Amino acid sequence: MALIVQKYGGTSVGSVERIQTVAERVQATVQAGNSVVVVVSAMGKTTDDLVKLANEISSQPSRREMDMLLSTGEQISIALLTMALQERGQAAVSMTGAQVGIVTEARHSHARILRIETERVKRYLDQGQVVVVAGFQGISDAPDLEITTLGRGGSDTSAVALAASLQANTCEIYTDVPGILTTDPRLVPSAQLMTDITCDEMLELASLGAKVLHPRAVEIARNYGVTLVVRSSWTDEPGTRVTSPSRLPRPLDGLELAHPVDAIEFDTEQAKIALLGVPDRPGIAAQLFGKLAGQQLNVDLIIQSINEGNFNDIAFTVEQDTLEQATSLAAGLIPLLEGASKNGASALTPNQGSLADPVALVSDTQIAKVSIAGAGMIGRPGVAAKMFSTLAAAGVNIQMIATSEVKVSCTIAVEDCDRTIFALCQAFDLNQSPARLEAPAARYGPAVRGVALDCDQARLALRQVPDQPGMAAKIFQVLADRGISVDMIIQAQRCRLYQGIPTRDIAFTVAQADADMARGVLQSLATEFGSSEIIVDTAIAKISAVGIGMITEPGTAAKMFQALADRNINIQMIATSEIKISCVVAEDQGIEALKAVHTAFGLAGSHEIEVPA
Ligand code: ADP
Ligand code: ASP
Ligand code: MG
Repeated sequence: MALIVQKYGGTSVGSVERIQTVAERVQATVQAGNSVVVVVSAMGKTTDDLVKLANEISSQPSRREMDMLLSTGEQISIALLTMALQERGQAAVSMTGAQVGIVTEARHSHARILRIETERVKRYLDQGQVVVVAGFQGISDAPDLEITTLGRGGSDTSAVALAASLQANTCEIYTDVPGILTTDPRLVPSAQLMTDITCDEMLELASLGAKVLHPRAVEIARNYGVTLVVRSSWTDEPGTRVTSPSRLPRPLDGLELAHPVDAIEFDTEQAKIALLGVPDRPGIAAQLFGKLAGQQLNVDLIIQSINEGNFNDIAFTVEQDTLEQATSLAAGLIPLLEGASKNGASALTPNQGSLADPVALVSDTQIAKVSIAGAGMIGRPGVAAKMFSTLAAAGVNIQMIATSEVKVSCTIAVEDCDRTIFALCQAFDLNQSPARLEAPAARYGPAVRGVALDCDQARLALRQVPDQPGMAAKIFQVLADRGISVDMIIQAQRCRLYQGIPTRDIAFTVAQADADMARGVLQSLATEFGSSEIIVDTAIAKISAVGIGMITEPGTAAKMFQALADRNINIQMIATSEIKISCVVAEDQGIEALKAVHTAFGLAGSHEIEVPA
């Protein structure tokens, strides 16, 4: 007899009829010989309606009372679904998060699960009952026993955590689309269903805005090897399997908190090339990376920080043995770019600064890339800060920073590599020897599996940050102390003398809701550092392409940049990890950019996906 955890989202339990349909499927699963735990969300838009109600009473309701309010939504659904099951003659019992014993940290509105006490659920299952559990909620440890919620979309996380704790055979997430699609079908109706996707790819996609799965649910599935499937509530189609590598057994205590960083990786075989002072207009990145792709040169990190006047710097890394070839290709572009800068020069005002600088090319083989990796860093703002402060304490200067949702990579001087790794292993309490990144032996299928759009971010930058160890650590620690999660972090390549001191710009993105608070943080730091300027832009969109296949597929970035250039969409920032490329563009071009990239990677299908209201 198998144990199956099924989770039904808000739309799937949005009306009496839909609850009946869910009850029918649950009963059929039991009749097929399985034990079933069901996790449900609040009906339809109940949670949104409760948020609105609270906002009519208070502009800043306390987080504790919000949890008290929002947790009621799920309580309605569990009772109704249990009644529907009982009505069909199926023994069932409803349970709140607290009754199950879903114990979380005492952090309202974003609590992480510490452990799940499974005895009571198991007892009911042994009696042949279906257990219907309220998703999204938990309770803090004694003596306080506070009702907590896990963050919007958190019922997925409740379901996967239950599956891990109960060692269920499968966790099935039922929703209003046929499974995980190449992108959001509400924005791009030609999105196509994937039959499977790896946890690593899904983690990036989920954190980048594909809300079909809560990223923390994917994190737990990956860490505990939970078999996870996303399917439609309306059909019997198989949906999408989210596959995870087989894992060593891991303690269930500290479920979501144990290890934010799983691994430290390093690579001393890359070289860095930077093209400085290129014109800030559509098509430059496409040209540069198109040339490299034309010669089958594989590029790893790519970063383009915030523009300076009408100019940008683009930096990237390649394998050392292709450095010469890559440098000469990039150099070949300089005369073209210089022509373009001169043409653009008349549009500049005198204080835009970098007018006098010619396009320049620099390269460095004496670098190492050091990364911390782990799904547990999502939504935990202190992790990147801890990496930076560890490097600062070891006196190591950071040259490039590139972040993804589950990885922070820094390039440093190669002679600093050993002590950096040692310091990081100590800081993150990892005693296994670090992994050297291995290039995968075989191709992994399509370079890009899915694309995502996030219009909920703001871009901030601090100009003229002194170029010395400890600066990034300071900025991101102060942001972390305020609970602000930072997403893309990009440190500019160009190092400039400002008031006699070498300085660099540091840019990053945060959730729009945090932009004002982040600006305040930067203001106080600017005074301390003697930096000259803070930039805040909320009218941005982040468009990302994800796929493990891009590790071995030269030209993936070039293709994405070309798709944007063809639509005359300017790229404001670029950040990559091994398996994703993210570009910041103007907000009003976000959907067009998403469609362009989706089509460019051949992801669009011929028939449209229908989505219910
Ligand atoms: P539920 O209430 O079932 O948890 P959600 O609204 O949280 O459902 O998530 C499902 C929605 O996620 C879909 O209706 C779809 O609009 C959106 N979505 C965004 N990106 C994707 C994607 N890549 N694949 C599938 N759905 C996506
Ligand atoms: N009801 C909660 C929300 O709307 C949790 C969930 O649906 O996953 O965010
Ligand atoms: Mg959801």
